[in-house]
Amino acid sequence: MTDQTKFLLTEKDIPKSWYNIQADLPSPMAPPLHPGTGQPIGPDDLAPLFPMELIMQEVSQEREIDIPEPVRNAYCQWRPTPLYRAHRLEKALDTPAKIYYKYEGVSPSGSHKPNTSVPQAFYNMNEGVKKLSTETGAGQWGSSLAYAAALFDLEVQVFMVKVSFQQKPYRKAMMEAYGAKCVASPSELTQAGRAILEKTPDSTGSLGIAISEAVEVAATNDDTKYALGSVLNHVLMHQTIVGQEAMRQMEMAGDYPDVIVACTGGGSNFAGIAFPFLGAKLRGGHDVRIVAVEPAACPTLTRGKFAYDYGDTAQMAPMVKMHTLGAGFIPSGFHAGGLRYHGMAPLVSHVQELGLIESHALHQLECFEAGVLFGRTESIIPAPEATHAVRGAIAEALRCKEEGKSETILFNLCGHGHFDMQAYTDYFAGKLNDQTYDESELAMALAGLPSVANAP
Ligand SMILES: *Cc1c(COP(=O)(O)O)cnc(C)c1O
Repeated sequence: MTDQTKFLLTEKDIPKSWYNIQADLPSPMAPPLHPGTGQPIGPDDLAPLFPMELIMQEVSQEREIDIPEPVRNAYCQWRPTPLYRAHRLEKALDTPAKIYYKYEGVSPSGSHKPNTSVPQAFYNMNEGVKKLSTETGAGQWGSSLAYAAALFDLEVQVFMVKVSFQQKPYRKAMMEAYGAKCVASPSELTQAGRAILEKTPDSTGSLGIAISEAVEVAATNDDTKYALGSVLNHVLMHQTIVGQEAMRQMEMAGDYPDVIVACTGGGSNFAGIAFPFLGAKLRGGHDVRIVAVEPAACPTLTRGKFAYDYGDTAQMAPMVKMHTLGAGFIPSGFHAGGLRYHGMAPLVSHVQELGLIESHALHQLECFEAGVLFGRTESIIPAPEATHAVRGAIAEALRCKEEGKSETILFNLCGHGHFDMQAYTDYFAGKLNDQTYDESELAMALAGLPSVANAP
């Protein structure tokens, strides 16, 4: 049994509920505030943007929320996902550590994102919504929502951050193949987009700008609602099926993680694998270290401020308390497009403030190097975002080697890189460099934090 590399569950093992870590937290989160009035928002404020069921999930304090049958049926197409023991990587590293990874790249769009796009599309359809608008960075979310919308007969308009739109043309084709529309953001389709283009015609875009465009379309069209692929409480909750499955698979392996590693853009795949384990720890179960890995060029958790900030550039979305680089911060065009958001999920920020997780920032060259080693040993080419988790796990394994410890490491391989081979081409051609953020730009963006909400 010690050689077993693959741990599989069956369809009946797909979790029946999502896990809400808020039920187990030692102290509650700060409430979201209205961007205009600075007052706490209620469900009615969110009603133009989201279907009521998702709004109720967003504010729920219940530990478990049932997964509707049509959603579980859709999950059956690719879930439960496999969990692997990385024997060949362990050997290459000559480490006494045991490395396991949960592979979310087996979904139709190649990442963890359909875990939330499917329920989001379902609840919208169920409440009579006809169209969804959304933003996408690298295109993972746009294609995941396009796929889910096709299942439930919804139209989709995607605003794709311009730098990624240019880097990843196949993602747009994929969205169109599923029947969605995709434009580069900033676009001429919205007031928010036109305002940016007027000031900076060559803007490469940002997730903050694309969110403003998508929110504007939903807020100004009665038949349209908005969908977000990360950051929000309900999104993180939908992702907890990853960690719940991993718990059972680790049990099959006769093991329990000492450390869990995942990359963080908005925090959803990280929360998805980590929160069920963290919840168990908070309820008196096994101890476990939890490590978030982010890009050094967009170091939200390690260098951002924990403060109220706008979720988007045009200040239309609610203000939330989170680690932020400032809604005006535009990160450089490094390749892990899914990790370029200026903020972090309020829930992930909150658990970091409570001292329940650690965070590290890594440069892209060391991450691609790790991604290539992973491809050559474990045979799966990681998405550029996922290489951060790979690198983080390797760093833990090398620490174990130095300390002579045989710890158990679990990480989330949140997506494959088949649509990102240009990034690998650039890496092999020596065209990638390590970018950091511009200190003065960061200071400027942080100076723009809403002062009302952050008054002492
Ligand atoms: C979107 C995406 C991310 C970043 O989003 P999180 O909410 O932080 O998970 C990371 N990896 C992949 C493969 C993605 O598609």
